[in-house]
Amino acid sequence: MSAESGAPKKAQIIPLKGGKCPICKKQASYEFRPFCSKRCADLDLGRWLDGDYRLPTNEAPGDAEAGVEDDD
Ligand SMILES: [Zn+2]
Repeated sequence: MSAESGAPKKAQIIPLKGGKCPICKKQASYEFRPFCSKRCADLDLGRWLDGDYRLPTNEAPGDAEAGVEDDD
């Protein structure tokens, strides 16, 4: 019927423009917005449920890897 012109038919994670994961400050993904992954979404939820939610202030410049694994 209709031919898609140049559009890759692929299930991919679409990065949100300007959206950053509130947990690890990485690029948020469309699927897990506003987080970058299910891991961070669960982390955030866990923090809320734990009543221990606070904004991270020790943000290191550059590539900050605060012990956050990303094995997705
Ligand atoms: Zn994240």
